[in-house]
Amino acid sequence: MSQDCIFCKIAAGQIGGPPLFQDEHVTAFRDVNPQAPLHVLLIPNKHIVSLNEANAEDQALLGHLMLTAVKLAQAEGVANGGYRLVANTGPNGGQSVFHLHLHLLAGRRLTWPPG
Ligand code: AMP
Repeated sequence: MSQDCIFCKIAAGQIGGPPLFQDEHVTAFRDVNPQAPLHVLLIPNKHIVSLNEANAEDQALLGHLMLTAVKLAQAEGVANGGYRLVANTGPNGGQSVFHLHLHLLAGRRLTWPPG
């Protein structure tokens, strides 16, 4: 855990409400500033700054993060209609919280390309 990381605090249950989903490895919770009717963030419980800092030992963890997103999309009833998974990475990627996370966005027709 990184002491001044807001997502580490959410994973540890120190701030925020009960997560949408949590297991030993990942936590999912609703984005405080939703950009779509469904906007969930999925994080590894372990502090990883971004995809750039993930390494080979994180391979199973990253797969688990993606498959958890699919399960949540199914549970939230958006899997068939479709959804988008986004991992903003670094300054040009628009990353603002430096704890690796996936955005799960759904519930409206999303445009492409993103801004
Ligand atoms: P990114 O810009 O890709 O780093 O995404 C960070 C996301 O975290 C943004 O969509 C924020 O709205 C969201 N966010 C920041 N703080 C919180 C929080 N305390 N609880 C839930 N979502 C948050």
